[in-house]
Amino acid sequence: MANKGDYKIVDHEFDVVVVGAGGAGLRATLGMAEQGLRTACISKVFPTRSHTVAAQGGIAASLGNMGPDSWQWHMYDTVKGSDWLGDNDAMEYLAREAPKAVYELEHYGVPFSRTEEGKIYQRPFGGHMQNYGEGPPVQRTCAAADRTGHAILHTLYGQSLRNNAQFFIEYFATDLLMSEDGQCQGVIAWKLDDGTIHRFRAKQTVLATGGYGRAYFSATSAHTCTGDGGGMVARAGLPLQDMEFVQFHPTGIYGAGVLITEGARGEGGYLTNSEGERFMERYAPNAKDLASRDVVSRCMTMEIREGRGVGPNKDHIFLHLDHLDPDVLAERLPGITESAKVFAGVDLTREPIPVIPTVHYNMGGVPTNYWGEVLNPTADDPDAIVPGLMAVGEAGCASVHGANRLGSNSLIDLVVFGRAAAIRAGKVVDKEAAVPDVNEASFEKSMDRFDRLRNANGSTPTAELRNKMQRAMQEDAAVFRTEETLQSGVKRMTEIWGEMADVKVHDRSMIWNTDLVETLELENLMANAITTVVSAEARKESRGAHAREDYPDRDDENWRQHSISRLSPDGKVDLSMRAVHVDPLSEDVDLAKIAPKARVY
Ligand SMILES: Cc1cc2nc3c(=O)[nH]c(=O)nc-3n(C[C@H](O)[C@H](O)[C@H](O)COP(=O)(O)OP(=O)(O)OC[C@H]3O[C@@H](n4cnc5c(N)ncnc54)[C@H](O)[C@@H]3O)c2cc1C
Repeated sequence: MANKGDYKIVDHEFDVVVVGAGGAGLRATLGMAEQGLRTACISKVFPTRSHTVAAQGGIAASLGNMGPDSWQWHMYDTVKGSDWLGDNDAMEYLAREAPKAVYELEHYGVPFSRTEEGKIYQRPFGGHMQNYGEGPPVQRTCAAADRTGHAILHTLYGQSLRNNAQFFIEYFATDLLMSEDGQCQGVIAWKLDDGTIHRFRAKQTVLATGGYGRAYFSATSAHTCTGDGGGMVARAGLPLQDMEFVQFHPTGIYGAGVLITEGARGEGGYLTNSEGERFMERYAPNAKDLASRDVVSRCMTMEIREGRGVGPNKDHIFLHLDHLDPDVLAERLPGITESAKVFAGVDLTREPIPVIPTVHYNMGGVPTNYWGEVLNPTADDPDAIVPGLMAVGEAGCASVHGANRLGSNSLIDLVVFGRAAAIRAGKVVDKEAAVPDVNEASFEKSMDRFDRLRNANGSTPTAELRNKMQRAMQEDAAVFRTEETLQSGVKRMTEIWGEMADVKVHDRSMIWNTDLVETLELENLMANAITTVVSAEARKESRGAHAREDYPDRDDENWRQHSISRLSPDGKVDLSMRAVHVDPLSEDVDLAKIAPKARVY
């Protein structure tokens, strides 16, 4: 242990350090450790408290246990769901590897719900259809009741321990360690219970830090979903991708923001307006209530705007499950039965649940290829990789969700790409090679920032600034967007970014200093928020979750491209574009089928 000013410094050496212990981080950790790589996994919360634990509905894979299905159909649905912004190579990889990844989970011990014959139970989910979207909904979403994330997370944590991965729990990662020539050499973390600073030097660093739902006022995400990986990447001078695409889930509980899984509609639930009309039949005659999330959220918003919302203020919608067999509800949807009671005071066997579109998922994130390797596009090479750095899960952008993610495609993304990152690391990490030295300049820079925030003595408390940011994002980067709201969002977020200089941290200690944790998180949230509004303002079309009233159509000629945003320390965002990968991996994909066309459900 060394001392630096006030700080005690502890150094570690590993082959791989994984930041994050949600589904993505744990699947990567397990895969690395299984191959004998010396692997550290660090997490700011206890692993099984990661947001993945809250995932309800299930995980998509074309097992075909409950009717015909194929990975090509799954790929097609994902391509269409992405509104043709996803990378075809990555989407093929996802759909193709999904069954293998789910069977592995089963063998690791995930207690899936079962069919009569003892196979994994699968339920219908939004946007997952039979026969290249021509047929009815397909039963593709593998479920453990409505606690699928819980089952997966606990299993992966146990298996990681069994394979001797080393866990560093309640360590807050602050910044990447970067060499002068742009290679990632590990990560810096603050141990929250004793105040020591740890430098994890590693040959490969994997960011699995989850999404940034908490940039918004009302979100289904945990309070820990603060986009720390995106913040670290932006501070390292690396880009973020497709940040304008923020998913609103149609059924957050009105007023509470707590999620009611899409599995509720998968099991037969439906939405009604103030006239008792099942309005989704009008907008999406084929998929109805199981159209994809962006579509359903927009239809609900339109019903409310046209005066057909429910409740005294006509500002929400009803979700009905009261027509379903109470035994089915008790067996397949026990978690949301409880949530409806606790958060809406509703007995869902008798009454409808009040719901409203609520921020739920970030399609954008750290750009990667389908091995999880982080990209830093240059003019010569749009797919140039950052040596030593990977990103997986919601923090990453592979990109398989493009402009809109299908329900149950995130859990499968976590395990397919967590696994892919491990496979890749097994090939590129040389166990015999030396662990890179610390670039002291990179470390100093990060500690200066840490010190500045710890001693921040301005006049605005962190919570006040966070509230301002969340309101601005909620109002100006919502389900529907216009030039006016987005310009207002850019202006407000730029001002709020500037106000960070006036932040006040009350607690100066190094032990369980939640004030400082929240301030570090706020700075990360802001990096994600500002790149989100700036990218959204720039994109002059409607695609997936990005619905512009002033540009209602998709414009493939000009905008079938990923946005790349680079944030400078003074809050300026530099935008460029990266071409979508249109070539799939193999000839097993029918190119005519996946070619862009109008997206109707
Ligand atoms: C309520 C809810 C229900 C959902 N249901 C489904 C579903 O049924 N099916 C589906 O496919 N998807 C679902 N999703 C989406 C899906 O669950 C998430 O996208 C996914 O779980 C994210 O996993 P992750 O591993 O990327 O990150 P997370 O599970 O969010 O984990 C992030 C990890 O990073 C760590 N971390 C973050 N920052 C730091 C830091 N600075 N230092 C140290 N550690 C850090 C955290 O401690 C945590 O361990 C749901 C999401 C929500 C919110």
